Amino acid sequence: MSEKSGGKKYCVSCGAEIDEKAEICPKCGVRQPAINSGQTIVINQQEKKSNGIGIAGFVLALVALFLGWVPVLGWIIWFLGLILSFIGVFGTPKGMAIAGLVISLIGLILLLVVFGALAASVAASL
Ligand SMILES: [Zn+2]
Repeated sequence: MSEKSGGKKYCVSCGAEIDEKAEICPKCGVRQPAINSGQTIVINQQEKKSNGIGIAGFVLALVALFLGWVPVLGWIIWFLGLILSFIGVFGTPKGMAIAGLVISLIGLILLLVVFGALAASVAASL
C-alpha cells in the first residue's frame, strides 16, 4: 500500500506524488510545508509555571517528617507544610502539593502512632 519510494511525498493540496525536496508542487503550484511533512511539530508552549506554594508545602512536609518529633517547632513546620500543600493543590502543577499533603498526613499518622505507643507504654508502666 504505502510504497516507500525514497524521496517522495504527497502534495498537501492536490495529493500528487512529488519530490520530497520540492518546495512547490509542479502540478498545482502550491507551496509545500517544511521538509518533515506529515510530522506535526509540537511546540510546547506551556509556560513553565512553577507552583511555589505547592513546592514550599512539599519541602516543609518533608522537613516536618524529620522535625515532627521536636515539640512546637516540628509541629509548626508540619502545620505550615500541610496548609501550604493544601493551598498548592489548587495551583498547577499540583504534583508536589499533593505529595506534600500526603507526606503531611503520613507524618501526622506516624506522630499519632508513636505518641500513642508512648502513651500506651507509659500507661502500662504505671
Ligand atoms: Zn499539488
